[in-house]
Amino acid sequence: MVFVRSPLARRYRLTLKRDGTAVATIPVRGNEREAVRFVEQQRDWLERARARQADKPRAAEIWTVGTRVLWRGTMHEVRLATPEPRAQVCVAADIFRVASLAENIRPTLEAHFARRARIELPARTWELAAETGVDVKQVTVRNQRSRWGSCSASGTISLNWRLIQTPENVRDYIIYHELMHLREMNHSARFWHKVEAVCPWWREAEKWLKRNGSLLGL
Ligand SMILES: [Zn+2]
Repeated sequence: MVFVRSPLARRYRLTLKRDGTAVATIPVRGNEREAVRFVEQQRDWLERARARQADKPRAAEIWTVGTRVLWRGTMHEVRLATPEPRAQVCVAADIFRVASLAENIRPTLEAHFARRARIELPARTWELAAETGVDVKQVTVRNQRSRWGSCSASGTISLNWRLIQTPENVRDYIIYHELMHLREMNHSARFWHKVEAVCPWWREAEKWLKRNGSLLGL
């Protein structure tokens, strides 16, 4: 348990960080004794939060041959394709070159994933833009920490490269979502009607993202 003082906090607050540390925030006018009492009262909540966290699938920090990684919607074991010195690994049907098998190959593999995403995600976006008749000006693929996609009124759609790791219907949902934003720049009922019309499975996709976001390191 960590206690932090926050000049911005109005109330006592308890949060559970991804690494499992519980953080109690003490508001400006609060004190540590009251914070301890507050934490005591939140014990059930904390237990439930811990259980929820343990229940969520999570990406391994260090990737080596044998690690299971999420790729195109399914967990796959990273397998050795060609031994060193010209090491290559395969994930499902895709083969990727790695510099050294002795190191954590996660940064290298993720860079490969992102490169594939920069080719495949815009292609899919143009396809769905044509299908829905939405006027898109530009598609960019980025390394976004906390969002799956975004768009601008000028007609640019930006997608998170990690969408190449999600199932295809989830990837398509995010693309449809941004396409419909070009028609309706908000999350009103009208917007969701438009999403529903082109992507009736959007609720399941949202659920998948909620449950598996941590696998993608988000
Ligand atoms: Zn949105």
